[in-house]
Amino acid sequence: MTDPRIPDNTTGQLHRVVIVGSGFGGLCMGARLKQAGIDDFVILEKDAELGGTWRVNDYPGAACDVPSHLYSFSFAQSARWTRKFPSRDELWAYTRDVAARCGLIPHIRLASAFKGADYDEAGGFWRIHTSQGEITSTFLVLSTGALGRPLIPEIPGLARFQGTIFHSSRWDHSFDPRGKRVAVIGTGASAIQIVPEIAPAVAQLDLYQRTPPWVLPRPDRAITPIEQFLLARVKPLQWLYRFKTYLQYESRALAFAYWPQLGAPARAQALAHLRKQVADPVLRAKLTPSYALGCKRVLLMNDYYPALTRPNVHLVTEGIREITPEGIVTNTGETRAVDAIVLGTGFDVEHCLGPVAVRGRGGRSLVDSAGDGGLEAYKGSAIAGFPNCFMITGPNTGLGHNSMIYMIESGVAYVLDAIRQQQRDGWRSAEIKADVQSAYNADLQQRLKRSVWATGCKSWYLDHNGKNTTLWPGFTFVYRWITRRFDAANYIIERS
Ligand code: NAP
Repeated sequence: MTDPRIPDNTTGQLHRVVIVGSGFGGLCMGARLKQAGIDDFVILEKDAELGGTWRVNDYPGAACDVPSHLYSFSFAQSARWTRKFPSRDELWAYTRDVAARCGLIPHIRLASAFKGADYDEAGGFWRIHTSQGEITSTFLVLSTGALGRPLIPEIPGLARFQGTIFHSSRWDHSFDPRGKRVAVIGTGASAIQIVPEIAPAVAQLDLYQRTPPWVLPRPDRAITPIEQFLLARVKPLQWLYRFKTYLQYESRALAFAYWPQLGAPARAQALAHLRKQVADPVLRAKLTPSYALGCKRVLLMNDYYPALTRPNVHLVTEGIREITPEGIVTNTGETRAVDAIVLGTGFDVEHCLGPVAVRGRGGRSLVDSAGDGGLEAYKGSAIAGFPNCFMITGPNTGLGHNSMIYMIESGVAYVLDAIRQQQRDGWRSAEIKADVQSAYNADLQQRLKRSVWATGCKSWYLDHNGKNTTLWPGFTFVYRWITRRFDAANYIIERS
C-alpha cells in the first residue's frame, strides 16, 4: 500500500509489519505472517548474514542444552538432527533452512541495523530508522533477544592488556590458542563449553571462577540413521518424541517455580557427578556451589570437570584484583601471565536494548519508560505508551527449565492475532492500558517470590535491584494459554 502521507521512505511504502532481528524470534514471526497470508513485512538484520544468537555465538564447543527436537519450531520440525543436543553449527543451519523453506529470504534486509524508531501519533505508524535509511510500518515487532550485548567487566587495567582479549560471543578466529597461555574469566554456560574445547590445545589455561555453577550430566548421544529415517517417515513419532521431551522438561518447572525443595534429587545427582569426575577434595570443594540448585542457570556438561583435572588447567578462585599489560593479578597479589583473555562474563541483560531509542507516545523512550524499576511489559510483549509495538520474548518470558522456542511461538501467536484483528476490525492502533500492565506485573512479581530464583543468589535473571525482570514464573503452557488470543479489551483501541 502506498501512502501519500509518508514523506520519507526508502520504498515509498507503508509496511504492515517491520520485525527487528532475524534470530529464532524474528524468523518465527515472519513465518507465521506468511502462513497467515500477510506478505507485507520486512525483517531487519544488522549483520551481513541472517540468524540470531546461534550465528553470533560461534565459540569453540557452542551447543544448546535443550534437545534438538524441542529446540525447533513446531511448524518446521526436522528429522535430520544428528545429535540429541544440537551444536551451534547445526542450529544455525536449521535457521537458514527455515528461512528458505518458509519463503523469508526476500523479506530479510541484511546489513540493515535498527537505529531507533519514533511513533508518529498523527499518522498512527512507526518511523523506523535503519543504517540503510528510514522505513515506515503500522506494526513494529522487536525481536532482538536479551543476550545480545556482551557484558565487559569493569576490572581495573582491562584496557591496558597487551595480549589478545575478546568476549565469548565475539570469538576472535584469528587467534590460534595452540601452545598459548589463556585465561578464561567466568564459569557460566558459555565458559564451561569453551574450557574443555581449548584445554587440550593450550599450554596453560587459567579459569577464573567467582561462583561455581551447578553442573549435571548431559545425556547427549548421536541420533542414529535408523532413528532419523523413522522420524522422517513416521510423522506421529516426531510429535510423540517432541511431546515426551516437552513433558520431561516442563516437569522441572515444579522445582524451579513452585517448590524449590523438589530440587533435592537433582542436587544429589550434581554432587555425585562432581564426586565421580573430580577426585581431588580441594578442587572438589572449590567447585561445590553453596546456593540452591536452579537459582542460577543449571549447566549440563560431561567434559567440564574432567578438563579441570588436567595438569595444564588451573582453577583460580582468589578473585581478580587487576589486569596488567602482561596478565592477571589475583586478590592474593599473585601475577599470572597470559597471552590471551577470554571474557566469558555474560551479557548486559538489563540494558539489552542498548542505546537504541524507541520513542512512543509523547516522544517517551522505552529506556525511560523502564526507569529504575526495570522494563515491564504486558504478557512479555506490549508496553504502555507504545502503540502497535510488540516484543517477542520481552520481559519475564525467559526460561530456566524448557525450550525458548515454545515461548517464542506463543508470543508470536499473540502478536499475529493482534495484526489479524487490526485487519479485521479496521482499528488504527492498540496500546496496552497502563493499569492492566501494572496489575499483570504485580501478580507476576508476587508469583516469582516463591521461585528458586528468589533464594538469594546473584544471577543475570535479576536486575541491579534484585528484581527478576527476565524469567517466566511457572509452566510454559500457561504462557501459551494467555497468549492464544489478542485481548483487545485490555488495550486502548484507536480508530481513525
Ligand atoms: P553468565 O551465565 O552470565 O555467566 C557469566 C560468568 O562470568 C559467571 O560465572 C560470572 O560469575 C562471571 N563474571 C561476570 N563478571 C565477572 C567479573 N567481573 N569477574 C569475574 N567473573 C565474572 O553468561 P554466559 O555463560 O554467557 O551465559 C549466559 C546465558 O546464555 C546462559 O545463562 C544461557 O541462558 C545462555 N546460554 C545458553 C547456552 C545453551 O546451552 N542453551 C549456552 C551458552 C549460553 P558470577 O556467577 O559470580 O556472577
